[in-house]
Amino acid sequence: MSVNYAAGLSPYADKGVCGLPEEFDSPDELKAKVEILAQLIKESQYLVVHSGAGISTSAGIPDFRGPKGVWTLEEKGESPQFETTFEDARPSLTHMALLGLQRAGYLKYLISQNVDGLHVRSGFPRDMLSELHGNMFVEECEKCGRQYVRDKVIGVMGLKPTGRLCDVVRSMSLRACRAGETAKTACVLEECSSGIAKVNRDNLHRRADLALTLGTSMQIKPSGDLPLITKRKGGKLAIVNLQPTKHDKHSYLRIHGYVDDIMKQLVELLGLDVPKWEGPTVCERSTITPECTADVKPPQSAPV
Ligand SMILES: [Zn+2]
Repeated sequence: MSVNYAAGLSPYADKGVCGLPEEFDSPDELKAKVEILAQLIKESQYLVVHSGAGISTSAGIPDFRGPKGVWTLEEKGESPQFETTFEDARPSLTHMALLGLQRAGYLKYLISQNVDGLHVRSGFPRDMLSELHGNMFVEECEKCGRQYVRDKVIGVMGLKPTGRLCDVVRSMSLRACRAGETAKTACVLEECSSGIAKVNRDNLHRRADLALTLGTSMQIKPSGDLPLITKRKGGKLAIVNLQPTKHDKHSYLRIHGYVDDIMKQLVELLGLDVPKWEGPTVCERSTITPECTADVKPPQSAPV
């Protein structure tokens, strides 16, 4: 599957700037900046986090434009190293810390460019999450819109038929909910119905008074430009990334460090625990209980 993943991504033409050098703040500088970030979060009324591939590298999934990223290596004629499969990948500390921030009420919405499914499998409530480029574990009915979170990757790229049936209409109408890398126009992205259409409808980036970006160079439109809208509406932009990003000059705070280290310090400063991961968990709604225990169900097996 890993090989298919890289091969399936290759036709995507707009790869942006790859392989820029990584920067690291000194330990003291990092600590001081995380303290500022903690204060910003405490003062915020509506925090929206934007996550990118950089938060999954510690889970063994390569990013795209980092020194060992998919596109960076492709330019050298090399292939990325996967240290895991998508099914076996465990959510990183950052994934679980974001769940902790959500449960504590700090994080109001999460927008992700990642297709690895780790936010969903970490138990993050799907009604507070938009996966702008889809999810490798999700297939969606093109007739009724129902989505199915599977326990194995769908194995089909783009919005193509998966060959399976929707339980509701019982027709061959399920398709992979995965749009980003094979199609780049906004209208195609919107077809992944839990993605940017919801973000736009609910004006999430406009409502936010603090946009925190984690592990993204923000080079892909429209997802990369959403945090800027928060700033234009009077909010603040905080950026956590090792490499320079497209929007560094617009940031109120810019932290260069490993995102897991930063999130670990952050949750400690906020007095929160990082929830323990006990295997893939799908949580549809945040409204049942703060822990979402009433709504936890195991991922469904894909029908053959
Ligand atoms: Zn259906």
